[in-house]
Amino acid sequence: MSNTSGRNQQVVVAGIFTSLIVIFIIRLFYVQIIEESYTVSANNNVLRYMTDYPARGMVYDRNGKILAFNQAVYDLMVIPRQVKEIDTLDFCKLLDITKEDFLEKIKKAKNYSRIRPSIFEKQISAETYATLQEKLFKFKGFYVQPRTIRKYPNNTASHVLGYIGEVTDKIIEKNPYYRQGDYIGTSGIEQSYEEELRGVRGVRIVMVDVFNREKGSYKNGSYDTVAVAGANLVATLDADLQAYGEKLMANKIGALVAIEPKTGEILSMISSPSYDPNLLVGRARSKNYGYLLKESSKPLFNRAMQAYYPPGSTFKLTNALAALQEGIINPMTTFPHSFVVGSKSVHCHPHPPIALEGAIQYSCNPYFCNTFRAFVDNNKFADSETGYNTWRTYQESFGIGKKIGVDLPHELKGLLPTTTFYDKYYGRHHWKASTIYSLGIGQGELGITPLQMANVMCIIANKGYFYTPHIIKKIAGKTNTTRGLSEKHFTKISETNFTVVQDGMQRVVEAGTARVAQFREVVICGKTGTAQNPHGKDHSLFVGFAPRENPRIAIAVMVENAGFGASWAAPIASLMMEKFMYDSISRPDLEEKMMKGNLINIINNTLEKKPENIDAQIIGPSLKDLLPELELNDWAVVDNELIEKPIYDKENNNDNSSKNEKPLWLDIFNFNIINRIEKNEYFS
Ligand SMILES: [Zn+2]
Repeated sequence: MSNTSGRNQQVVVAGIFTSLIVIFIIRLFYVQIIEESYTVSANNNVLRYMTDYPARGMVYDRNGKILAFNQAVYDLMVIPRQVKEIDTLDFCKLLDITKEDFLEKIKKAKNYSRIRPSIFEKQISAETYATLQEKLFKFKGFYVQPRTIRKYPNNTASHVLGYIGEVTDKIIEKNPYYRQGDYIGTSGIEQSYEEELRGVRGVRIVMVDVFNREKGSYKNGSYDTVAVAGANLVATLDADLQAYGEKLMANKIGALVAIEPKTGEILSMISSPSYDPNLLVGRARSKNYGYLLKESSKPLFNRAMQAYYPPGSTFKLTNALAALQEGIINPMTTFPHSFVVGSKSVHCHPHPPIALEGAIQYSCNPYFCNTFRAFVDNNKFADSETGYNTWRTYQESFGIGKKIGVDLPHELKGLLPTTTFYDKYYGRHHWKASTIYSLGIGQGELGITPLQMANVMCIIANKGYFYTPHIIKKIAGKTNTTRGLSEKHFTKISETNFTVVQDGMQRVVEAGTARVAQFREVVICGKTGTAQNPHGKDHSLFVGFAPRENPRIAIAVMVENAGFGASWAAPIASLMMEKFMYDSISRPDLEEKMMKGNLINIINNTLEKKPENIDAQIIGPSLKDLLPELELNDWAVVDNELIEKPIYDKENNNDNSSKNEKPLWLDIFNFNIINRIEKNEYFS
């Protein structure tokens, strides 16, 4: 009984709701459809739906300097059905377009809709707008829609800031918020913080009289929705340091990443060559984009987190730490001063007898090949495969071979080969440490991004942990806790094991290969690297942090084809550290030398090498077989022909060093990413 009455009540309530909804829908239909396109009063007023574009959030640097703001522009809108009796010639003259342009644009607008407004001419200047506004009464069916475009006042940090583009049909399909003519962040901060930055669009309904004049809000604005401005962001970037670093990296190819170790805040992220971010704003955007794509130095490619580089000698540090933790070596361990495997051998330059600290100071190749072999082939493991897997897990805990999770789009994970990778290449149980020993000194099948290298420096500076490197510290005044950025990550290495490695790195700067990095009595820890490059001159690399106690800045600098680490990367890193810590430079000569150094014209640019040139050097199985391990899948398609072939350097096969193990594929990886950027597939 009570059940039935309950059901009746439900039916009644549901009925009332349904009626209300129906009434509401009818009302809405009346307001939106009937009234939209027809007259609504005796005064012949029509209703015009004006989009109220929210101001996009501003972006500031860590010291409050503006990195991105908005500038007012005006879109000229048209509602084709309302266009009547206009003086086309006069109109075209005003906009500086031809009659053909006019007809084309009207046709396009009609194809979109006869009764709905669409953009006739976008982003007209304030001057044109002023003249146009006076005469607008003569051009029925046209009106001006104010909106904003982005401006980047410092002309720096283009790869970090990113840019904004007009939404494509594909984006609109995927995300119902966007409508034709909307802008969306398509790279950098503009992309990763799009939802925070964009705000919420509003609508104003205004009445317009027969003379195309606005006569105020419809029904006192009761149907209007108010736009909500986007959130302002505070970036972790130091704008001055960023600009300074860009000057140092000018006319060089490479990347630089500086991070505050105790927070993971990215102080500076540079990929060189760069471009003025304002080039990709406004009406000239697509023209400029095309121009940048064709540039042979590939300025759109963000080398800081997309380029794979062999880490060279800088990799000896994490190799040592893994061996210390696993008890394979201790700070007193010594090895014979050569490393011999069959016909291959690794030798060293003369230096005093050494244990671990000295091995880091002198960057002793045999020491670290021996360490690697002692680890991987150790009796404590069932086989080399288990040994390698254990070693690999340590490296992974440093953020090597996986994405770190930076709050910027398109980060790549680098390459740290798995056992499956080697099984495929050499056959199961047909490889051991002596087959892949060059990993121990950072050569071989390793690809590490500068961002990952700088993060490893944070870990060593902090003696065992890191916060995810990130670029936005505040959203609308509040600490950015999104995207898991405040999480503390620990490596598998105990704090005590870092001391001897830091000792060695301090010796590198005080009495080793990076003496050029010294400044003002600051205790600096560092390591140079010279990454072998089969195409031309070696890459120059430096990683480090300062000061040793309470470190404030960790840094990685890679300069392609620049020779020894000490020649370019170490001085540039050192100047950056001094600039950040003291805001002035005590070594103007060094500064001038670095800023004036032009390596771009003299280098043998690897990126311009066509893959055909490498054909003769191919040995081994197809790279495509190795694809699942390399996770190349998503870009394999682009250059199928290219990456079906394994790329090994045969030229140096008789060389008595590890050089003959160096694959060319890291360059091919980078080449592929660039290809995707060129085909505009990367950012869509
Ligand atoms: Zn040595």
